[in-house]
Amino acid sequence: MREALLYQKLDKEKIRCDLCTHRCVIHDGKAGICKVRENIEGILYTKVYGRTIAQHIDPIEKKPLYHFYPGSKAYSIATPGCNFRCRFCQNWDISQINNYEILKSGIDITPEQIIRNAEQTNCTSIAYTYTEPTIFFEYSFDTARLAKEAKIKNIYVSNGYMTREMLDMIHPYLDAINVDLKSYRDETYRRIIGARLQPVLDNLKKIKQMDIWLEVTSLIIPGINDGPEEIRGMANFIAAELGKNVPWHISRFFSGYKMKDIPPTSVKTLQMAKYIGLEEGLHYVYIDNIALPGDSDTKCPLCGALLIERQDFGITHNHIKNGKCPECGLKIAGEGI
Ligand code: SF4
Repeated sequence: MREALLYQKLDKEKIRCDLCTHRCVIHDGKAGICKVRENIEGILYTKVYGRTIAQHIDPIEKKPLYHFYPGSKAYSIATPGCNFRCRFCQNWDISQINNYEILKSGIDITPEQIIRNAEQTNCTSIAYTYTEPTIFFEYSFDTARLAKEAKIKNIYVSNGYMTREMLDMIHPYLDAINVDLKSYRDETYRRIIGARLQPVLDNLKKIKQMDIWLEVTSLIIPGINDGPEEIRGMANFIAAELGKNVPWHISRFFSGYKMKDIPPTSVKTLQMAKYIGLEEGLHYVYIDNIALPGDSDTKCPLCGALLIERQDFGITHNHIKNGKCPECGLKIAGEGI
């Protein structure tokens, strides 16, 4: 265990964790909502520092990031735990601490070793992903600082529920982030996710202002967030508040965890969502988690030329020349593109 960052002592018995918007007040001997941060005699400890439960070399498209060094590899790591309780979680076996035994799973890897592994496998970036990087902030922060020195990019794949303090700390080291916008209704965030909507919207705006490369993902779940009005709300928010060049990934839901009775999202609904996204003015809207020919390709928003062709999280053709459309010369949004 290692002493946590970003917490305050309230009195002899209680401390407050300031890492995510829950700002848990934690009594001596207890843990916060994420169950991986514990108050022991007035000191907050993280129980997951260095404890990697998943590590893979992934195409960056799998994060998903389509406009950040396309075609590159991301050294991807996770520790157990999450600050959300999504009933549809697709990584629930490592994100939800239903049994403390999971904290003993995985292997210990130092930040230095992660950097060496990323270098040896020619990864352009390190992705803090699969579970929520906010709850393993100390580990990702130390790794990200070393990565920066080694000229390796840092990527978060996040639910966007961190505090301003945490965002300010990671900002100098964070190059790109994909944030889930899981619904456009606070009621859904409260009932199905165990969080609130507004802090996520506020953080999305703050991340954009910080000039960190941003892409947004929305998992479309039948009967939960698949109504045209809600989809339009999400698309309009991204276009109006974050910018039309922010890529939006519409992701297909598959039945699982506590939502086994809900069928997978239909192709018709996914295509309707994409249509709405384009109608709201977004330049780059993709359908993920299902192979639909052309729906994960990048097209020039000005002349419609085909720019990047993708298949199975890989790039089959990249027609972009010096960051520009080869047909009309429009600069294509992104980094390393
Ligand atoms: S990270 Fe969030 S959920 Fe975990 S203890 Fe801190 S405030 Fe609570």
